[in-house]
Amino acid sequence: MDLFEYQAKELFAKHNVPTTPGRVTESADDAKAIAEEIGKPVMIKAQVKVGGRGKAGGVKYAATPDDALTHATNILGLDIKGHVVKRLLVAEASDIAEEYYISFLLDRANRTYLAMCSVEGGMEIEEVAATKPDRLAKVAVDPIAGVDVAFARSIAEQGHLPAEVLDAAAVTIAKLWDVFVAEDATLVEVNPLVRTPDDQILALDGKVTLDENASFRHADHEAFVDRDATDPLELKAKENDLNYVKLDGQVGIIGNGAGLVMSTLDVVAYAGENHGGVKPANFLDIGGGASAEVMAAGLDVILGDSQVKSVFVNVFGGITSCDAVANGIVKALEILGDEANKPLVVRLDGNNVEAGRKILADANHPLVIQAETMDAGADKAAELANK
Ligand code: GDP
Ligand code: MN
Repeated sequence: MDLFEYQAKELFAKHNVPTTPGRVTESADDAKAIAEEIGKPVMIKAQVKVGGRGKAGGVKYAATPDDALTHATNILGLDIKGHVVKRLLVAEASDIAEEYYISFLLDRANRTYLAMCSVEGGMEIEEVAATKPDRLAKVAVDPIAGVDVAFARSIAEQGHLPAEVLDAAAVTIAKLWDVFVAEDATLVEVNPLVRTPDDQILALDGKVTLDENASFRHADHEAFVDRDATDPLELKAKENDLNYVKLDGQVGIIGNGAGLVMSTLDVVAYAGENHGGVKPANFLDIGGGASAEVMAAGLDVILGDSQVKSVFVNVFGGITSCDAVANGIVKALEILGDEANKPLVVRLDGNNVEAGRKILADANHPLVIQAETMDAGADKAAELANK
């Protein structure tokens, strides 16, 4: 999960990384009020999850509260690389002597962590990386040893930071490593990390990506989820612990096991070519336990997608046998009642398949159509979606 700058700075504050005080708002009038409260010149900063806001006119210096109002009015609604600005960070403006670059990231290729540091930070860091790679230090970080102040100092030194700021920069860089580890981030980037005229080191920007696989141990990260930007169906699925990804087709898909669901998407897309080009509407893996509750939650999410015209339930009974799955489907349809209103093609195979098929046949639900094979099921579901 990528964070907004203001959220990254909340984590910085939590770990004592020095930054400028500020507040986030969605209104220009409020931006002016915050500027008045701060009582000093401020930066008005577009909060969008994309880089290059400065160059796009999304970061402005406001000497007075009236300037803050003007800039805030101009920046709200601005389209920055397809991201429309809805929120602003109003932060005390800092004087800048120099701009540096520092980041920690997961180095997948080398199976380790990496620190990157440069004395030439600011808006042209990509340019530095491309044309003067020797000015951008890349330092491998041993995950066990981590980054203490001494190692942080060496990173800063390799990034050619001037001698007189090395000590101060080292302290901040070590704290940024604390953020990276303690918050389970895969990226912590500060550009610019600035040196003020009185040789303080401040993080004036922040980019943090959190590893969602670790969200179970960070209850507080839930507050960072941008509910406006998340598809409402994906949100609902997440609340029910379902692995769901919305796609752009008409055939809803439910399967157990990511591999089976992936191949079901392929088979449905292929079958759709004979039925007006219909496509799979989603990825949904209900996992090992296909209880009635899980099945009902999955069906509920899929049927909530107005584009869906038919549903293909493709289950291979393993530890959870087909009769359990069939009972789950029957009970799920009971739970959903009138909300279940689209044809359901069900293909069961594997453990206890005969019992499972019998349960569905006996229930004789008007929406349920059984298929013998995966290909036949995909073809039937595609045909129904094209009606
Ligand atoms: P980005 O363009 O999306 O990376 O946004 P940044 O937050 O990095 O801001 C862009 C540029 O605005 C920085 O490189 C700085 O030059 C400038 N800037 C940001 N904050 C301040 C500040 O507090 N004071 C001054 N003088 N300039 C700032
Ligand atoms: Mn920046």
